[in-house]
Amino acid sequence: MTEQPYNKPLPQRLPENEEFWEGLEAGEFRVPKCNNCGYWHWIPYPACRNCLSTDQTWTATSGKGTVFSYTVVHRGPGGFRDDVPYVLAMVEFPEGPRNPIVLGTMVDVDPDAVHTGMPVKVVYEEIPGEDVTIWHFAPDN
Ligand SMILES: [Zn+2]
Repeated sequence: MTEQPYNKPLPQRLPENEEFWEGLEAGEFRVPKCNNCGYWHWIPYPACRNCLSTDQTWTATSGKGTVFSYTVVHRGPGGFRDDVPYVLAMVEFPEGPRNPIVLGTMVDVDPDAVHTGMPVKVVYEEIPGEDVTIWHFAPDN
């Protein structure tokens, strides 16, 4: 059986997000944390949304969270066509006080079993033949 080329969109590695992608390769989901006030920020932004400091450090989170909201996708575009039905979830991380809410697809779960408040963890997928690791969420039993 020949391996099919990866046919989903790939992220763009840039100098400003390189530490994030290196984190995923190391099994860490890193989020910029403000060195001035301690707030965590997702999505990343050049300045802290609380105090406007530009002094932030990519910091490993617990990699765990709870489902904040979700939808079940029944018509996947392009490379996602064979994955339906699948869950696209917004996951709230515990790192506060402004808790990161991260979007991701869920794996290893029956879509009917997903509910808000469900404990989940980040899981990592190394893309064969590509220099990138991406993230998903899976139930944290
Ligand atoms: Zn700050």
